Amino acid sequence: MTAPYSDCPEVRQAIIDACLHLNAKGINQGTSGNVSVRAGASMLITPSGIPYSDMTPDMIQSVPLDATPTARGPLKPSSEWRFHQALLTAKPDSHAIVHAHPVHCTALAQNRQPIPAVHYMVAAFGGHDVPLAGYALFGGEELAKNVVNAMTGRHACLMANHGATVVGETLDKALWRMEELETLARGYVLSLSAGTPHVLDRFQIEEALAAFADYGPRD
Ligand SMILES: [Zn+2]
Repeated sequence: MTAPYSDCPEVRQAIIDACLHLNAKGINQGTSGNVSVRAGASMLITPSGIPYSDMTPDMIQSVPLDATPTARGPLKPSSEWRFHQALLTAKPDSHAIVHAHPVHCTALAQNRQPIPAVHYMVAAFGGHDVPLAGYALFGGEELAKNVVNAMTGRHACLMANHGATVVGETLDKALWRMEELETLARGYVLSLSAGTPHVLDRFQIEEALAAFADYGPRD
């Protein structure tokens, strides 16, 4: 399924499938993660507090990109709709967002440690590091600002004392990035525990960034 997406049952089901995939891979636990895609002038986003295994396409929430959601029915959009909305607005080439609390990303975020260029895969996230967004209470405007700021020129960030967020040109690419980010974070945590990780220099990452221009799942 390629972006741009429209609001249809297949896209809504793809969001549910993405959530189930995150749980199956151990990247998400419980209902802490959330997924959105751009659909025209709105976004489709997972509802708040519904276990993914119970989610049906009609439960996926449609929220305008330029307004506060209005209550329709008993379900609410994810409590994190603000940063999904802010990222889709700030990044017109990104059409999908995945947010979760993967264990190793969250461990680093608890230490308030961004991920430096300890592996060439850091280039998959658009730059020389995976930055850290400053802490703010979940669900609020301030967190949305912090995430958008941290992800300027990047496809991912860790979120202080919270978790991680990635964007993708497609939903598949966002999922791929989240899996790669947790793998990168796991490797970094392990290398920190074994010694002092070597950080690639600027030229080495520039080379990797050039190579990554055409890497990852097809759009
Ligand atoms: Zn969260």
